Amino acid sequence: MNKLAKIIENLSEEDLLKIRRDLIAGNIDRLIEQKLKESKGDLSEKFCPVCNGPITNESFILEFGSKHLRRKAHFDAADCLEYFVSTRLRERKNQTP
Ligand SMILES: [Zn+2]
Repeated sequence: MNKLAKIIENLSEEDLLKIRRDLIAGNIDRLIEQKLKESKGDLSEKFCPVCNGPITNESFILEFGSKHLRRKAHFDAADCLEYFVSTRLRERKNQTP
């Protein structure tokens, strides 16, 4: 709670009013729920970006992107991961010299 108290202390009145409105609307609950779901690694709603197959616990995870904008992609099979790396990531590299 100390951490949260510190954050609140540094917020402007405008932000506080917005947060109170979100709190009443239940948006904060939803945000926390979403964050917890992500950190638990809940894969139940994820699909492979290559073949659209469902991601299981046996999935392959590729982490890429810049230091401040890390992205994670989940693949259901090694060949999907290979396809993604050899096509999409290479295209991306060609676009940004
Ligand atoms: Zn796949």
